[in-house]
Amino acid sequence: MKTPTPLSRRTFLNTLGASAITLPALTDVLGRPITTAGNQDRKLGIALVGLGSYSKNQLAPALQQTKHCRLAGIVTGTPAKAEEWMQKYNIPKANVYDYKTFDRIADNKDIDVIYVVLPNSMHAEFVIRAAQAGKHVICEKPMAITEKDCQSMIDACKKANKQLAIGYRLHYEPFTKEVMRLGQEKVFGQVKFIESSDAFRIGDPTQWRMKKSMAGGGPLMDVGIYAVQGARYVTGEEPVSVTAQFSPKTEPQKFKDVEETLFWQFRFPSGAVSNSTTSYTAGVERLYASCEKGWFELSPAFGYGPLKGRTSKGPIEQPVVNHQAMHMDGVCKDLLDGKTLPGHITGEEGKRDVRLLQAIYRAAETGKTISL
Ligand code: NDP
Repeated sequence: MKTPTPLSRRTFLNTLGASAITLPALTDVLGRPITTAGNQDRKLGIALVGLGSYSKNQLAPALQQTKHCRLAGIVTGTPAKAEEWMQKYNIPKANVYDYKTFDRIADNKDIDVIYVVLPNSMHAEFVIRAAQAGKHVICEKPMAITEKDCQSMIDACKKANKQLAIGYRLHYEPFTKEVMRLGQEKVFGQVKFIESSDAFRIGDPTQWRMKKSMAGGGPLMDVGIYAVQGARYVTGEEPVSVTAQFSPKTEPQKFKDVEETLFWQFRFPSGAVSNSTTSYTAGVERLYASCEKGWFELSPAFGYGPLKGRTSKGPIEQPVVNHQAMHMDGVCKDLLDGKTLPGHITGEEGKRDVRLLQAIYRAAETGKTISL
């Protein structure tokens, strides 16, 4: 796939751990010039929007470990959660909003970054409102349910001169960074084929993830996106075509609105091919690359960790980290230092994935090979 601003393999590599370009004109929320020295000890204030499972069980605990950001505010439609979180995390009432009062966050100097953790169909509205409130934004994956929404989100952040990151926590995770290196630097020679799959058995059939209007689709939008990312970051390439197949539904009543299981295949410019599965009916979590001179894999590959990896030469040894803390710290350190965020975690990357997710659906619906 070639987008208007494609990431070359080299750019992709260079952006992985390295610092990005310095923007001397950036200022902090109070209009003060940002310098690395002056911001060493400052923590950016993050407001979480939507206090569901991911906010409650992963992000808020991770924000107790972060060095460059802290939990400063919350936005919730559930008053009982507001009470509970204020007490638990010592959040002042002035930093608590609901979805109607949200825009007043523009006047709140404690909040530098708004982290949108809502159902997928609500990401676009709240990212745009966050940018209009003059805040940097982190948005959960998938960035949105249409490519058009992704573009509107990018445009709104650009217009507000604010940065937009996607919740791609794995891009800061050491095992993942190692397989990016192994694949992209051809440590075992050219990657020939990849198996990249992420699936689990879903519980409550009434949740928003089972409604196409809110989720944008089924397991592909939810966890299949990790399999798409895996194939892209192991090759460092953009796929040139896709084929895909829906499996027959074994529980048609439960999966009346979204797919139950989906398979797809990408072809990459180097000749590498990938095969992927996603499903809400049974589990798999694996990223495997077979190369000219060996192989490497992560399994588990996409969950909260610890991830585990091995190669044809032996185990992959890397530190076990808190993914969410690494991700938020990585983003906030760059914001504090006045840097542009690395391209592989921004809205442009989120849009590339949403475009591919839509192409996978199109390929499965039509039975045709879709050129990208
Ligand atoms: P939940 O259903 O657990 O929480 C969503 C929250 O959004 C609700 O608790 C509610 O919070 C708020 N909300 C507002 N309007 C609605 C509505 N109409 N229906 C349902 N909820 C509503 O979802 P998750 O926390 O699991 O997922 C949220 C986002 O985070 C998704 O985009 C998901 O893909 C992403 N995610 C990312 C993960 C990662 O590893 N990066 C892992 C898990 C999720 P309140 O009561 O406060 O208003």
